[in-house]
Amino acid sequence: MVSTITANLSEVRSRIAEAAQRTGRDPSTVRLMAVTKGFPRQTVIEALEAGASLFGENRVQEAETKFTDLAGRCETHLIGHLQTNKARAAAALFDCVQSIDSLHTAQALDARCEERGRTMDVLLELNTSGEQSKSGFPNRDELLAGLAEVEKLSRLRVRGLMTVGPLTEDERAIRASFVLLRSAFEELAPGRPGFDVLSMGMSSDFEIAIEEGATLVRLGTALFGPRSPR
Ligand SMILES: *Cc1c(COP(=O)(O)O)cnc(C)c1O
Repeated sequence: MVSTITANLSEVRSRIAEAAQRTGRDPSTVRLMAVTKGFPRQTVIEALEAGASLFGENRVQEAETKFTDLAGRCETHLIGHLQTNKARAAAALFDCVQSIDSLHTAQALDARCEERGRTMDVLLELNTSGEQSKSGFPNRDELLAGLAEVEKLSRLRVRGLMTVGPLTEDERAIRASFVLLRSAFEELAPGRPGFDVLSMGMSSDFEIAIEEGATLVRLGTALFGPRSPR
C-alpha cells in the first residue's frame, strides 16, 4: 500500500540522516534506491507515488515487464549479475548497470550501447566478503586491471564502485567489507571526474555503510517487507 511505503520511506530517511550525522556527513549526499525485485509492477507504481525515484532490479527479464512505460518517471539501475545474452535488453532498459563484474560483461554492454547510440553509466562491483556465492571482481588487483580496460570502452562511463556486504550479523566483518570498498574508491577517485558513486548497504546494514562513506544505499525489505523466496 502507498501509505505503508510512505511510512517506511520516511522512517528509512530519518535513519539515513542519523547515520550520516554520526560521522559528520550531509544526509543529502546519500541517495536512496528502492529495490523492487520480487515485487510486482504495482509496487513500483506505489513507490513512485510515495516519492521514490531511483529503482534497482537484479534481473533483466523481471525488470523489463515491470518498468514498461515508466522510463521518463524514474531512474532504474541493474544491481545483479548481467549475462551477456541480456546485454541488449539491459542497454534498452537501464540508466546504469552497477554490477559490472568482468571485462567480458562490460564489452558486451558497450557493444549493445553502441548499437543504440547511447552511453551508459556503470559501477564496477567488488567482492569484498570473499563469499563464493557473490559476484563482482574477486579482488582489488583484478578490479584495478578491469577498470583500466573498461575505461577504454567509449560507450560506458565508470561512475564508481559497488559491493554487497557479507551475510552475517558480525558488525566488524560487515564494516571491514565496506572499508575495503571505500579505500579502493578513495584510491581511484582522484583524477577521475564523475567517479563519485559508492554503492553499498542494504536493509540490514545500510547505517554501517553510510558511516563508512556510502553515497547510495539499496533498500528492498526495509521499504516493502520480506520477499517471497525464489
Ligand atoms: C536484493 C538486493 C538488495 C536489497 O536487499 P534488502 O536486504 O531487501 O534491502 C540490495 N542490493 C542487491 C545487489 C540486491 O540483490
